[in-house]
Amino acid sequence: MDGMKLAELLFPHITKTTEEMQQKYPSRQLPEGAKVTRFAPSPTGFLHIGGLFAAFVAERVAHRTNGVFFLRIEDTDKKREVENGVSGIVAGLQAFGVSFDEGMRSETEETGAYGPYTQSQRKEIYQTYCKELVQKGLAYPCFCSAEELAAIREEQEKNKQNPGYYGSFAKCRDLTYEEIEEKVRQGLPYVLRLRSPGKEENRISFEDGVKGTIEMPENVGDIVLLKTDGIPTYHFAHAVDDHLMGTTDVIRGDEWISSAPIHIQLFDVLGFEQPRYAHISPIMKEDEETGGKRKLSKRKDPEAAVDFYHEVGFPKEAVLEYLLTIANSDYEEWRANNPDTPREEFPFSLDRMSKAGALFDLAKLNDISKTYIATLSADEVYDRTLTWAKANNPEFAKQLEQDSDYAHRIFGIERGNEKPRKDIAKWEDTVFYVAYFYERPSFEEFPENLSKEDMIEILETYKTVYCHEDVQDDWFPRLRDMSEELGYAKAPKFYKKDPDAYKGHVGDVSTVVRVAATGRRNTPDLYQILQVLGKDEVMARFDLAIAYLKA
Ligand code: GLU
Repeated sequence: MDGMKLAELLFPHITKTTEEMQQKYPSRQLPEGAKVTRFAPSPTGFLHIGGLFAAFVAERVAHRTNGVFFLRIEDTDKKREVENGVSGIVAGLQAFGVSFDEGMRSETEETGAYGPYTQSQRKEIYQTYCKELVQKGLAYPCFCSAEELAAIREEQEKNKQNPGYYGSFAKCRDLTYEEIEEKVRQGLPYVLRLRSPGKEENRISFEDGVKGTIEMPENVGDIVLLKTDGIPTYHFAHAVDDHLMGTTDVIRGDEWISSAPIHIQLFDVLGFEQPRYAHISPIMKEDEETGGKRKLSKRKDPEAAVDFYHEVGFPKEAVLEYLLTIANSDYEEWRANNPDTPREEFPFSLDRMSKAGALFDLAKLNDISKTYIATLSADEVYDRTLTWAKANNPEFAKQLEQDSDYAHRIFGIERGNEKPRKDIAKWEDTVFYVAYFYERPSFEEFPENLSKEDMIEILETYKTVYCHEDVQDDWFPRLRDMSEELGYAKAPKFYKKDPDAYKGHVGDVSTVVRVAATGRRNTPDLYQILQVLGKDEVMARFDLAIAYLKA
């Protein structure tokens, strides 16, 4: 058949050639070894932690090689689109500091010379390449209805044949020009299919950046390139876009591995240079019900959504640090040896990624985050807690702002010293962390091993010996001396040796004081807490505690 004639029949509105298209996308001038990667989400508004992970990995690969990282929006599936879906993704990535050199910046704005970076804006480009394929006899229109395709599938299932539109199943492959013209004239809907050059007996192999050598059967299916509305399929758009945009390394989820033979064939048929592929395994989670592993699920796991990390207030630094630990198994060792080196300097490598899927571990993230927050100054903790609170807990924000000096002093407790306390994992935790500074405690936590009378005696005596002007070094000896006078061992070890000789030990006494001042048995440094509370408040709390014990 005359391909030129057919191409004109199907694409009369396409007037440019692929050469002209190509001229608008000149080769990128980049240093030797530089990689061009991209993140290519659908505009669903929802950013999955796995998406952030993939974006982060692609960003690392590009920027470690002085390459380019761009954001392309893949909106060819209108069913999955939501309003403002692009902004949600851009904001989600930005909040984690995953920075793009090119691509969409908001719903409508973009930067970079290789756009448009939204697939729905690229219809003419795709159709130009389709027209050329038709001209060369490498693509053809298919008028099969949904029912006909379902019948083919049924027959293949029954006969245990491979699914797809190929061989004798490809009914529209050999339509004549006249037959096609007639159907087009009647206005019958059609898709455009690839005339696959693949053979069933052939196998292909490629080097996957994460998984290593992969061998698979060659694609034989006449896959759809353009849908009935003239919009391309993912497969076709991927080939055209990543070629024109100069992607060197396609880093994407491993659900696409099974389609790789189609993509490799498309690049060939289109005369494009093959990109390298790296298929990332999904982030897994231990399934409490089955005890096995499963993918982190948008439906079942709140931590699957990137918004979750903002809402509970994990610092982005901690999340990125954590993602690196699950991305490269040797990251933790590197971090231990280089505690102060910026994480950007870690020699990240795709081939050290987990082939099977890293296990997500919230407890681990908590630990990493506590360690990170412990390195921040009181000012930083205050500022970041406040930013979080303004967005997620306005009441709390108000409280912090009311007397910011007081709040700064609270966050300064056991901070800035050599071994800062690691007890805040996320900004949400600070609500509980600081609560007793803002409300008077209840006293249910008084220890059971002392009698009420003994505790009253401790507090009444302590009220008389307490000296708010004490420096930290004098504070504890004063409490210890008092303990001894009241019949408590001055250290736990003396008590343990001869329990009958004492009412308890100094630790019991300080617990009574701690609970009276804070309502808790576990707190940061008690001396510093008392200093921040102020003498009047400390005395008032002791009085309340005594009254509680007497009641
Ligand atoms: N739009 C595809 C997705 O959402 C992108 C896959 C790719 O990165 O090529 O999974």
